[in-house]
Amino acid sequence: MSFQELGLSDSVLHGIQRMGYVDPSPIQLRAIPVILAGHDLIASAQTGTGKTAAFGLPILSRLESPQHLPRCLILEPTRELAMQVETAFRDFARFMHLEMALIYGGVGYGKQKETLASGCDVIAATPGRLLDHLQQGTIDLSKLEVLVLDEVDRMLDMGFLPDVRRIVEQCPKKRQTLLFSATVPDEIGRLAAWCLNNPEKIEIGAQRSPADTINHALYPVAADQKFDLLIALLERTDFHSVLIFSRTKDGADRIARQLKTQNHSVAVLHSNRTQIERVEALEGFKNGRYEVMVATDIAARGIDIAGVSHVINYDVPQHPEDYVHRIGRTGRAQNVGDAFTIMTAEELPHVKDIERFIAQKVPRLKLDNFDYIYSAIFNEDSVTAALKGAKGVRTHKGTSFGGSRKRRR
Ligand code: AMP
Repeated sequence: MSFQELGLSDSVLHGIQRMGYVDPSPIQLRAIPVILAGHDLIASAQTGTGKTAAFGLPILSRLESPQHLPRCLILEPTRELAMQVETAFRDFARFMHLEMALIYGGVGYGKQKETLASGCDVIAATPGRLLDHLQQGTIDLSKLEVLVLDEVDRMLDMGFLPDVRRIVEQCPKKRQTLLFSATVPDEIGRLAAWCLNNPEKIEIGAQRSPADTINHALYPVAADQKFDLLIALLERTDFHSVLIFSRTKDGADRIARQLKTQNHSVAVLHSNRTQIERVEALEGFKNGRYEVMVATDIAARGIDIAGVSHVINYDVPQHPEDYVHRIGRTGRAQNVGDAFTIMTAEELPHVKDIERFIAQKVPRLKLDNFDYIYSAIFNEDSVTAALKGAKGVRTHKGTSFGGSRKRRR
C-alpha cells in the first residue's frame, strides 16, 4: 500500500514527497489508519523504523488548518528527542501553515514564552519544563486534541512518570492519546490503563532483536588495554562517522580528551553539558564537523543521525535493552552499519544478559596484529566458572565480576 492510499491529507503527502519517502514502513502502514480514525494507540517498534512519521503524518493530516492553539502535545524524555521530533514535524508540515513550539529545560524561558504567546498548533516538549509553563500559566492545554507519549519506557527509567501524570491531568478528558514504548512493564501498563481509552495495540517486529542491517561483534580485551583497542579499532576501520558510548559521563569526557590527543575531531554528549554544548555537539556530529561523538545513553534512544557508520560500546551496556538501542544508532532505515562492543572479563555477566535478551550469540572477534596482553576473558568458560564459584558474586545486571562495582580503565 502506498502513502496515497492511506488517507493522508494532500499537503502532508506533498511534504512526504519532498522528504523523499517512497513506501510506508511497517509501523506507518499499521499506525497511520488507526490514528487517522481517531483511536487511541499503544505501540512498540524498533528504533529507526519510521516511528515519528507513523504518528506525525496522521496527526498533521487531522490538524490541517492552523488555529494557533496547542492542539497536539508530544512528550519526549530528552531535549534531543524533542528537537528531533519538532524538526520532523516542521519537515512533514512544510506545505501547511501550522506553528510548532519546542519546549525543554536548560535554556531561558523568554523565547519559549514568546513562541507560546504568539500561538502554536503543535508542541514538542520534555515533561519538566512543560510543567513549569503549565504552572506559570504560559501554556493552556484546554484545546488539546492529541497527546503523544513517546519513549515512555525511557521516561520511566528517568523518573518522569509522575510529571507525565501531572501533565495528563491538565489535558482535556476528550482527546486522542498515543503511547509509544519499546517495552510495557507493569508501571507503564498502569499508566496506559489510566490515560488511554480502549487503545488499539501495535507491535512491530521482535522489539528485542537488533535490526538485521547491523553487523555486531564483541572484542574481548584486558581492562588495561580498552583504550588501546579502541584506538586500534578506529585506525583499522574505514568509518564515516562513529558514535562511541561510555557508561559514565566522566568516562565519556576522558575518552574524548584522549581521542583529541590522537587528532580525532570529537564531540561529547552527556547530561552534565550545557544545552548549548549539547546542541553544538549533536549538530557538529550531524553535519560532519566531528567524525566521532562520545556519548552516554542520552544519545542511545531514538536519536536519528543519518549515516552513523559505526557504533562502538566502550563499556558493555548494563541493561540489555540499552544494547539494542545503542547499536540501533547505526544501520538505520535500511542502511548497513557496524557495531563493536569492547568487553572485559568483569563485563561478561552483562554480555550474557544481552545475549539472553536478544536471543542470539554475538560473535567474539580479535583484531589482527593487535598486541594483546593476556586476559581471563580469552577463556570465557573459566571466567563463567569463576563467576559461579565466587561466593556472594551475583551475575545479574548491576553487579560486576569480583564483587567490585568500580571499573578499571
Ligand atoms: P524514526 O524511527 O522516526 O527515528 O525514523 C528513522 C529514519 O527513517 C528517519 O531518518 C526518517 O526520516 C526515515 N524514514 C521514516 N519513514 C520513512 C519512509 N517511509 N521511507 C524512508 N525513510 C523513512
